Amino acid sequence: MYDFSALYEATSVQNAVELMQAHPSAVLIAGGSDVLIKMREGRLAGAELISIFKLDELREVTMDPDGALRIGPMTSFAHATNSPLLQQYMPVLGEAADTAGGPQLRSIGTLGGNICNGVTSADTASTQVAYDAMLEITSANGMRKMSIHDFYKGPGKVALEPGELLTAILIPKESYENCYGYYIKYAMRNAMDIATIGCSVNVVLSEDKKTIQRARIAYGVAGPVPMRAKTAEAALAGQPVGEAAITLAGDEVLKDVNPRTSWRASADFRKQIISETARRGLRAAIERAGGAF
Ligand SMILES: Cc1cc2nc3c(=O)[nH]c(=O)nc-3n(C[C@H](O)[C@H](O)[C@H](O)COP(=O)(O)OP(=O)(O)OC[C@H]3O[C@@H](n4cnc5c(N)ncnc54)[C@H](O)[C@@H]3O)c2cc1C
Repeated sequence: MYDFSALYEATSVQNAVELMQAHPSAVLIAGGSDVLIKMREGRLAGAELISIFKLDELREVTMDPDGALRIGPMTSFAHATNSPLLQQYMPVLGEAADTAGGPQLRSIGTLGGNICNGVTSADTASTQVAYDAMLEITSANGMRKMSIHDFYKGPGKVALEPGELLTAILIPKESYENCYGYYIKYAMRNAMDIATIGCSVNVVLSEDKKTIQRARIAYGVAGPVPMRAKTAEAALAGQPVGEAAITLAGDEVLKDVNPRTSWRASADFRKQIISETARRGLRAAIERAGGAF
């Protein structure tokens, strides 16, 4: 059923990178909710596996001295939803995680696996993109940091070199401070379905709550990888809170996206959902931020 030739269980990050160096063709497995499906389908027949499942040091959400939220990549969807720090500063990430799969999946699937698989429909990816996450990547050569915007290279492809392990997802303080977000997953049914479109919106309002100082809109499935709607974001900056801004968001996002037709939905239908989720997501984020219509 699961055809693998060896399983190496890392005991520390250092041990994991050593194992990756010693077994360069081995497949890294975190929660295993993507990898084990592939194995079951025979797509990784005979592979060696390196498991990081026991690395509790990669399973915490903490705050760095500079105020950045440090999310361990082994943090499960359920853990993200229940994290007091995320609930306080970035509840939208836990809400996005809560839309993934069912309860079993949410207790095993990880936030790191959700971006390292390079999949555009990944439910937490658009929120990580919307908050300009920085990624800490460790290998036998040391540690490097990169923006999540440079991480996606194409469908199923990310900028991890052989021997590299994602060891932290960092949300800079300026990304979440005074910022209120909202995530909408549009899927063909409510339970256990992959997003037809995922839309994560967040806003910072002026002190009097009457002006949009900053808006961020990110999508899953609006293109080959999770992406930002930069034209819409630029158009919204400085707009008064009101119906005109909502309409503007719905129109401007269409300049940024490139959805495709698949068996799930046509490109035209996806564009309609992209506009609608921008409008609804922006309205909800503004209301959470204390703005009124
Ligand atoms: C029934 C079912 C329903 C699902 N529903 C959803 C859904 O609704 N929404 C959704 O977004 N996803 C869904 N998924 C997909 C999957 O659960 C998620 O993508 C999950 O986040 C993957 O995390 P994992 O730890 O299980 O990944 P794994 O399977 O362990 O790994 C996935 C990939 O990431 C790599 N990887 C993992 N961690 C690291 C790391 N720290 N450093 C470097 N590489 C790493 C692995 O090598 C592998 O290539 C579903 C899967 C199943 C089986």
